[in-house]
Amino acid sequence: MFEPIADLSQARILISNDDGIHGPGLDVLIAIARSVTDDVWVVAPETEQSGAGHSLTLHQPLRFRQVSEKFYAVSGTPTDCVLLALGHLIKDRKPDLVLSGVNRGANLGDDVTYSGTVAAAMEGTLLGVPSIALSQVFTDPDAVPWDTAAQHGAEVIRKVTGRGWGRNVLLNVNFPPVAADQVKGISATSQGRRKIGDGLIERLDPRGKPYLWIGPQRNGPGAAEGTDLSAIEQGEISVTPLCIDLTDQGTLATLRAQGL
Ligand code: MN
Repeated sequence: MFEPIADLSQARILISNDDGIHGPGLDVLIAIARSVTDDVWVVAPETEQSGAGHSLTLHQPLRFRQVSEKFYAVSGTPTDCVLLALGHLIKDRKPDLVLSGVNRGANLGDDVTYSGTVAAAMEGTLLGVPSIALSQVFTDPDAVPWDTAAQHGAEVIRKVTGRGWGRNVLLNVNFPPVAADQVKGISATSQGRRKIGDGLIERLDPRGKPYLWIGPQRNGPGAAEGTDLSAIEQGEISVTPLCIDLTDQGTLATLRAQGL
């Protein structure tokens, strides 16, 4: 178990994200973290890394740049950032909590496997630190309701860290696309089924050569009750515990029963 954190005001928090150091949700998460503790470190990608998943940079050097006090930009992925933070930048005292986000857009259903936001929390968990991914769902790209995450973020973090959770688990939090005062509550959910990537858009480049671009369309069977998708549809904050261990125990038992 990750033990409950009784007093967050004494905690060291590491923040990363996948939207990069200029991502609009990074400031939102910094403000949330600073409202609970003074010891907030930011190690985030120099450039946008959405869709990077849990990728590592192995074939080129990683460079870091100090942006301001306790704030570094890294020339890599969200996973690189967490590795570099814990292994180098703040190795003297590892964080008590890793927060990733606030992502601009949902990380729900099957999409979480593509998510750099979720992957940073995955890396924190693998390195033995309780970690939470946070995402702000929106419907209008020109009016992302950041205030919803800003108003409710600290409360969610206090609630979950006050209880603790399994060491093999990260928490995936999504804020619904409604105004802060329209939020219906906080709901523990399971991962739903919906993915991006099927909508391939074919176009011609200015030289007449065809190219493909992965569109934003998402497909799935719909929002089953009790899932992250359903909670968001109902205007609730969704908290999904995600397992690092991807083993399916049912299939494993079946395979073993068949003598494998
Ligand atoms: Mn992103």
